[in-house]
Amino acid sequence: MSQVRTRIAPSPTGDPHVGTAYIALFNRCFAHQHGGKFVLRIEDTDQQRSSEKSEQDILQSLKWLGLSWDEGPDCEGDFGPYRQSERSEIYSSHIEQLLDKGTVFRCFCSSERLDLLRQQQMQDKQQIGYDGCCVNLSAENIAAKLEQGEPHVIRMKIPEQGNCEFEDLLRGTISISWAQVDMQVLIKSDGLPTYHFANVVDDHLMKISHVIRGEEWINSTPKHLLLYQYFGWDIPVFCHMPLLRNPDKSKLSKRKNPTSIGYYAAMGYLPEALLNYLGMMGWTMPSGEEKFSQEEMTANFDISRVSLGGPIFDTEKLDWLNGKYIREDLNDEEFIQRFAAWAFKSDKVKMIAPLLKQRVERLSDVASLGSFFFSGELDISAESFAHKNIEADEILKIVQFTLWKLELIEQWDRDSIEKQLQELAAQLELKIRDFLFPLFVAISGKAVSTSVIESINILGIDITRARLRKALDVLGGISKKQAKSLEREFRDFG
Ligand code: GLU
Repeated sequence: MSQVRTRIAPSPTGDPHVGTAYIALFNRCFAHQHGGKFVLRIEDTDQQRSSEKSEQDILQSLKWLGLSWDEGPDCEGDFGPYRQSERSEIYSSHIEQLLDKGTVFRCFCSSERLDLLRQQQMQDKQQIGYDGCCVNLSAENIAAKLEQGEPHVIRMKIPEQGNCEFEDLLRGTISISWAQVDMQVLIKSDGLPTYHFANVVDDHLMKISHVIRGEEWINSTPKHLLLYQYFGWDIPVFCHMPLLRNPDKSKLSKRKNPTSIGYYAAMGYLPEALLNYLGMMGWTMPSGEEKFSQEEMTANFDISRVSLGGPIFDTEKLDWLNGKYIREDLNDEEFIQRFAAWAFKSDKVKMIAPLLKQRVERLSDVASLGSFFFSGELDISAESFAHKNIEADEILKIVQFTLWKLELIEQWDRDSIEKQLQELAAQLELKIRDFLFPLFVAISGKAVSTSVIESINILGIDITRARLRKALDVLGGISKKQAKSLEREFRDFG
């Protein structure tokens, strides 16, 4: 076998997700077990949703977990650049090859036409997809449109009949009817590639031998295989891993479970324990041992033993494992060091100190006043939220809307938080004091504490989200029906 090369290809469009780390771990183990290379490529073709901050957070979180890469945007290698936004010329020259071969076509359909088409297909309960209107435009027609600078995209042709059959390392032969596959846009009207095109071109040029990714990409694989065929390239081995699930078996989502790696770091999980836990998702050591390091996993790895039953990401099990690591792997000195490094990060302490200093009279007051900065979940109940001016329903609404408002913040800082909260208090027509009361309780566990805005800023979105969620839970939760009407009301605020 030629050199094994695997990759993780995250899109920097949000918080670093535990699912990304899970897929990265399996790719890294597989490559290193075969003496191969593990590559990190940033797929930032969606310029509107991609951000530098998200890229930084993803790289930093994977490193924190011990998932370093052999080639990537920060260390380069022989196949760079490793960031798709820096590879535009490569995609342009490659699409030219396919235009010459006639396996792709320019599509000049307006978005209005495509919208109407979609509506019609929905009404007729037909498969949604492009109808091929521009497939057979004459060369003269195309030349004239190009001359006039008409905006257009480039789509791939798809066989009209038959099935696409391919081998999956874990699932055997998969067969998908071509009728279900859309004539995918490969190049957008701004000249930039879509995920599908850039992903295939890069996997080939970066000599990726095994594409190990989440099962949500199975339905895209026919398009990818067809592109390999159009170019005349060898195909890599495909392996679609089972998706992580919530305890209720639904796809792991941040609505039900914290999914951001930052949350687990902020809660004081040890990276080696979290990584071990991700390794247990769908895989077990031959010995049945549940506690293992990445090196042990790599040494014993056998991808064919990945089980396809949806692995449940269960924080209780993770708590158990993390506790085991703390007790078994850290001596007292190491425990002190790890705790201090986690709790007293200098930037965090520097922000907390002035808030506490203003309020304490004795140093012994620091612990009780400031303990919520160093806690995970707080000990609160429905009674903690009882208030003379605000009804229980209103309290629930304040907490939920605050969560939604904070999730809109792109640049997390004190001023943005203050702006969102002030705006919300005005929209809800509440006195700021009344409005802030449930937030004090949810965030600090007490009705009176250090400034709630400063506290939210210091705690960060991950812990803040978890605390607001817990508040919603102890307040009795929100039914689906209630959530719908709250969403409507929130949207109307604009
Ligand atoms: N950029 C894709 C993602 O965000 C990569 C999918 C793949 O591995 O092909 O998941």
